[in-house]
Amino acid sequence: MSSIQAIRGTRDILPEEVGYWQRVEAVAREIFGRAAYREIRTPIFEQTDLFERGVGEATDIVSKEMYTFVDRGDRSLTLRPENTAGAVRAYIEHHLYAQGGVQRLWYLGPMFRYERPQAGRQRQFHQVGVEVLGSADPRADAEVIAIATDLLKTLGLKDLRLEFNSIGDRGDRQQYREALVNYLTPYKQDLDADSQDRLMRNPLRILDSKDAKTQTILQDAPSILDHLNPESQQRFERVQQLLTELGIPYNVNPKLVRGLDYYTHTVFEIQSDDLGSQATVCAGGRYDGLVTELGGPDTPAVGWASGLERLILLLQQLSSPSAAPLDFYLVSKGDRAEAQALKLAQLLRQQGFSVELDLSGSAFGKQFKRADRSGAIACLILGDAEAESQTVQLKWLASGQQEALMQAELLTQADQLHQQLTAARKEG
Ligand code: ATP
Ligand code: MG
Repeated sequence: MSSIQAIRGTRDILPEEVGYWQRVEAVAREIFGRAAYREIRTPIFEQTDLFERGVGEATDIVSKEMYTFVDRGDRSLTLRPENTAGAVRAYIEHHLYAQGGVQRLWYLGPMFRYERPQAGRQRQFHQVGVEVLGSADPRADAEVIAIATDLLKTLGLKDLRLEFNSIGDRGDRQQYREALVNYLTPYKQDLDADSQDRLMRNPLRILDSKDAKTQTILQDAPSILDHLNPESQQRFERVQQLLTELGIPYNVNPKLVRGLDYYTHTVFEIQSDDLGSQATVCAGGRYDGLVTELGGPDTPAVGWASGLERLILLLQQLSSPSAAPLDFYLVSKGDRAEAQALKLAQLLRQQGFSVELDLSGSAFGKQFKRADRSGAIACLILGDAEAESQTVQLKWLASGQQEALMQAELLTQADQLHQQLTAARKEG
């Protein structure tokens, strides 16, 4: 019979790799917690309508990447392609705005997009992200960028670039859109097919085009930065000033855009040169129009999302994941000894020790070999003689030193034993 394989574009995260994931998750939790961001967990699937409105019909995500299906009750549902729409839906549905002040949220979890799988691009992938709802203050923009920078730095990532831009307010963009369409229309035949298609639907997205010829045409295109009104301009400069104050280098990139109407002012991306063509590890911006778009009260907001697969590809270039430390490897042979060992393992675990129990039933020699390979600090040995006398042999694997103890003694002297293990771990 042929075996079943994981779906194209999805990956198993095996125990060898999961250490990286746990590390990123732990660092993220820590950094968000210190900045008073609270975690939110929203459902993996939502009404399709949420993403059509919340992400936008003109985007690649909605037009060609969504996993949409009809359920048994004839509802159109979609596996979430991102988490901002879900977080904002929850914010509105549970009246989080009524709590007053600013809501700082973060999330982490799987997202789904029907894309061509390659390194750093999957169909089920993971994002971690933050959303700050209820503040129009430029400090909120700077804060979310600073937190992203902190996260990446704490993980040890280097050679990252912050690309930064403003797309102004709705009015600025309306004017810019016209200027851009006017400039590009004479070149229409020379643009790549996608860009021709976007010229009327979503012209700002043409700036994203990777096509060389389109990029050449764009070299002399009008810049959004020449279309910011004085207030937008001032805001843009204020965020830059704050970034400078924070010691965060950035590069103003007038070609960086988000094509949707509810995006406003700040847009940014953090990129790495070590990821080939999937260079963006974090992307975000301000979306002052989204909450009303989804039926909530007028609420300014800013946030970002970062792709965990890409972060982990970078981490893997740096180091191997640290294995979880093991205190004891417990070997035993003989019916009575094996039963006592099973129980002893449980009692030790309840005292906070980590214990791996050898279940092989093989000869002591083979079990000892596995103990050596296990990475444990010490080995506990229980044979017929120990079972008879309720004792256990404790062998420190680094020094080879061995002592006999009463099993009960191990548990009553737990504190001392914890200290000895810590000391031994430091020496090793
Ligand atoms: P790209 O241009 O790479 O497709 P995007 O603009 O679609 O990115 P966003 O929707 O802004 O990406 O998502 C934020 C981040 O999530 C990206 O910068 C990337 O790190 C990650 N990401 C997006 N799509 C995928 C995917 N299919 N697989 C892995 N990571 C992804
Ligand atoms: Mg994409």
